[in-house]
Amino acid sequence: MIQVAEALNIIAENSSKMPIAKIKVSKSLGYVLAEAIYSPINMPPFRQSAMDGYAFTHGELTQFEVVNIAQAGDFLDDEIKKNQAVRIFTGAFVPDDTDTVVMQEHTSVKDNLLEIEKMPEAFANVRAKGEQIKKGELVFDVNTVITPAAIGFLACLGITKIKVFEKPKVAILVTGNELVAAGNKLPKGKIYESNSLMLEAALKTIGINKPTVFKVKDSLKKTISTVEKCITNFDVVLISGGISVGDYDYVKEALLENGVTELFYKINQKPGKPLFFGRKENKIVFALPGNPASSLTCFYVYAFPALKKLMGFEAIHLPKMKRKINVDFKNTSGKTLFLKALYEDEKVTVLESQSSAMLNTFSIANGFVVVPHDVTAIKANEEVVVLPFN
Ligand code: AMP
Ligand code: MG
Repeated sequence: MIQVAEALNIIAENSSKMPIAKIKVSKSLGYVLAEAIYSPINMPPFRQSAMDGYAFTHGELTQFEVVNIAQAGDFLDDEIKKNQAVRIFTGAFVPDDTDTVVMQEHTSVKDNLLEIEKMPEAFANVRAKGEQIKKGELVFDVNTVITPAAIGFLACLGITKIKVFEKPKVAILVTGNELVAAGNKLPKGKIYESNSLMLEAALKTIGINKPTVFKVKDSLKKTISTVEKCITNFDVVLISGGISVGDYDYVKEALLENGVTELFYKINQKPGKPLFFGRKENKIVFALPGNPASSLTCFYVYAFPALKKLMGFEAIHLPKMKRKINVDFKNTSGKTLFLKALYEDEKVTVLESQSSAMLNTFSIANGFVVVPHDVTAIKANEEVVVLPFN
């Protein structure tokens, strides 16, 4: 049995980045850049009006003859004299002979004669060519995560395709004779299967959208053959249940049978002790405990950073925050505890129902309070480490 920190190190060491693919910018949300990107154009590409108003040349004059109209999208190439102005709208090309835009609220116009009532500074309301970025400048460095704004920025530079790290293909394999899919009758002795839906949802939060779900009964033969399918066709295999020490827990044997190397099994923590992490070539496997809260805890703390590493993220772990805990807390277990909790700006409240089988309070929790294995008591209002996951 190993400690949490050691498990995290082993996972980081054994998870390598996915291959690189060139994809459409429109499909790149949540991907991580595998190349640095330089701007192919100036942005804005021309001097652009930032206001609805009038373009003119700044000087002594306050009255101008309005000689033309520049709408967004127009290109006005006429000569504009010093005593002339152009009606202009936000986003429009500012004629070369003018240098300033006055907002329309600061003007009055009668019979094509513009009177500037409040004179702006010279060059006001004109966005300089290349003000946001110049041709050839760095747009994003390698390892940048593509956000909605990043997609907008790339699109406004006319970039259509980018090189990113591929997202891993993930298989979820749930094991258990007792499991029945929701929507069916629940015979005596059975329970509804929930881990696959929960893990699928958790994967979505990091942009992995379509894992393939496999289900097997507690049979060694079936588990071996399904593990084989998973390890052959997927980059990451998340297994739920069957990894404990019960007579019908066949997952570990099935993994070893398939040539998966055990990198660790069992972590000194609660919940989620019987976590198995293994590898076959560049494929990785997490056999998560079946108890739902253990399963999701192990997903957040261990599978999440591995997946992020594969996807090219630089910051892979849940971020760490400090908050003041709401109660006195004793840890007599000698294990690291991940307590379901609700953090606010300054404090964190440890929730009821910490059992590894219970999701009732996990559902409203937004983070874990981490109690290290060697800390036996915490006083209310002491600062503790919180790992936010929502
Ligand atoms: P196991 O690790 O297979 O011994 O399962 C531990 C506990 O988790 C048992 O009470 C199982 O019934 C439950 N469990 C296992 N897999 C699932 C699942 N996919 N959905 C809901 N509960 C599960
Ligand atoms: Mg089981």
